[in-house]
Amino acid sequence: MIQVEGINIAVEGCFHGNFDEIFGEIIDIEKKKQIKIDLLLVCGDVQTIRNKNDMYNMACPKKYLEMGSFYKYYTGEKIAPCLTIFIGGNHEASNYLREMHFGGWVCPNVYYLGNSNVIEVKKGNTTFKLGGNSGIFNNHDFNNPKLESFPFTQDQLHSVYHIKQFDLYKLNLYEGDINIFLSHDWPLSIEKHGNINDLIRKKKHFEADILDGKFGSISHQYLLNKLQPNFWFAAHMHVKFEALVNHHSNKKTKFLALDKCLPGREFLQVFTYTKEGVDLYNQFAFNNEPIELYYDPEWLAIMKTTFNLQLIWDKMPKLFDINYAQKELKIIRWQKYQQMLQAKQQLLINYKNQRIKIPNNFQITATPYYKNDPTNKLTFPNRVILNNQIDDYLKLFNESGLQLNGFLFYEPQQPQKKEIQNQFQVINKIEIQQNKEKVKQEILKQLDQQQKQQKKDDNLNILDFPFLQ
Ligand code: 5GP
Ligand code: MN
Repeated sequence: MIQVEGINIAVEGCFHGNFDEIFGEIIDIEKKKQIKIDLLLVCGDVQTIRNKNDMYNMACPKKYLEMGSFYKYYTGEKIAPCLTIFIGGNHEASNYLREMHFGGWVCPNVYYLGNSNVIEVKKGNTTFKLGGNSGIFNNHDFNNPKLESFPFTQDQLHSVYHIKQFDLYKLNLYEGDINIFLSHDWPLSIEKHGNINDLIRKKKHFEADILDGKFGSISHQYLLNKLQPNFWFAAHMHVKFEALVNHHSNKKTKFLALDKCLPGREFLQVFTYTKEGVDLYNQFAFNNEPIELYYDPEWLAIMKTTFNLQLIWDKMPKLFDINYAQKELKIIRWQKYQQMLQAKQQLLINYKNQRIKIPNNFQITATPYYKNDPTNKLTFPNRVILNNQIDDYLKLFNESGLQLNGFLFYEPQQPQKKEIQNQFQVINKIEIQQNKEKVKQEILKQLDQQQKQQKKDDNLNILDFPFLQ
């Protein structure tokens, strides 16, 4: 067999907590093909459930609530056979992913890309940029701020995985080339670029939505046209589907959606991404260099540019508008967008020569489930801590996670790390909710006062982006 330089990649559709099964499948493929899979990419519904508390923080009909096998990988009892990177779908341990909002290791060797992100994957001389956007589209929550924090109300249990325009906003500021992009639901109208008849034949219940032109996510359609990645992988629809999108720029996107992990279903695709950026299906890479992940300088600049914005997002004029009649999502504040781009470009000067490896800083922060442990009761942690990985990440651009208190996290006092790990008790959910609201209200009041000092937008008489003032 001809040896190529590249990265052997397996792509998976929906995971649904089947860590043992899918990792087992990876090992089987490696044996059968006599290759080493370097990287597994997963397109959502992963269900990284560490314990019973996580299980009840997943939006899912009660009869499907299952522990799955993630907890074994969380405790270190088992280890993922290859580097695994995933985005979130609509069935997740949403409290855990919320903690890891900007991306992080959910266990050794398994990296959550976060709500939106772009990172660099490198093995030997082969590198590519990997982007992703977690969640599914829902027009009721698209314009809302991302304020879901623990403990989730019933509404928040669902809204937490709905795509918010803030993430689209960040991805839309990205001007570099993205090679591979991951989403859970499909871009709107993607079916037009593939074998639509075959799709309807396999999934009759898609037909009405397809004919109405409302099959898929309008925000992903926007991103697909804007970012034009070489590959776009998705899941959610529980069917394998391929499409080729020819962009006006002459760039092409190969789209592939995969099924969920069930016997006899098409849920895995293996290919080799070569040094030249080509996808091969019958030749594999045999070079043994380790695979490494790096932060993307442009994404760090975007994070810095938009950081303060998330704190006041609910008071902000929105950047995008959706015209449902015309099925069009577009920027309505071009001037602001241009200003943001310029601010990012300025910041990028500081970041662009930095090559920062994503650190292996995973720590166990919750009491994991142990099979056969009679003391394994449903318990709620009395606070959601600022995860050590978020803290490390925010230091990269001199921001502090404490600013996110009351937004992402419920953390009334700064806790001692040891204390957190041991301190799990059943607590009064209502009391926490009230406290959380109080913290939120206090922060909003402070922000209000700060903003009153600031200039107003003359044209629209609304608050302007604070960092540009
Ligand atoms: P999940 O595994 O996330 O609970 O459910 C995904 C299922 O919802 C898919 O198998 C698909 O049948 C259905 N679904 C999701 N989005 C759409 C849509 O836009 N139109 C139709 N007809 N079905 C959808
Ligand atoms: Mn799904």
